[in-house]
Amino acid sequence: MELNELDGLYREAILDHCRNPRNLGAIDAPEIEAHAVNPFCGDEIFLQIGLDAAGRVERVGLDVRGCSIMQATGSMLSEAIEGKTLDEIEVISAAFHKMMRGDTEAEEAMKQHGDLDALASVRQFPVRIKCALLSWTAIEDGIEEFRKAHPP
Ligand code: ZN
Repeated sequence: MELNELDGLYREAILDHCRNPRNLGAIDAPEIEAHAVNPFCGDEIFLQIGLDAAGRVERVGLDVRGCSIMQATGSMLSEAIEGKTLDEIEVISAAFHKMMRGDTEAEEAMKQHGDLDALASVRQFPVRIKCALLSWTAIEDGIEEFRKAHPP
C-alpha cells in the first residue's frame, strides 16, 4: 500500500511517527523485554519497559525495523503506554484489536490514547493489518512472560 492513499489527518500522524519514532533506543534494567517478527514484510520490533514502584510504565525503549505502518504503530504504542499499568495496557490492546476489526466504539475509545486511532485507516489495506498488530503481539507476550516470572 502507499501511504498517500490514506486519509489526510491520519496520514500526517502516521508519517510523523515514521519519521520521528518516539522512545527510540535501549533503556537500562528493563522489567519487560518483548520481541516480535513478521517475516511477511520483514517487520521486527524490540520493546523494553521499565516499571515504577506502583507497577506503571515509567520508561520505554523501542527498536523497530520494517514497514512504515509497523514503525508508526510501535512509536504510537510506546507513547500510549506511558504511565499505564499492565492491566490497562491489556485493555488498550484488546480495544485496538477490536478497532482493527471495524468496531467504531473501540475506534472512538482509542482517541484517548495518543495517535493510535489514526491506525483505523489501515483497515482499508487488509494485508497491512498484521503490521499494525505486531507491536501488540510483542507487548502482550512480554507482559505474559513478566507475569509468569512475577506471580502475584
Ligand atoms: Zn509490515
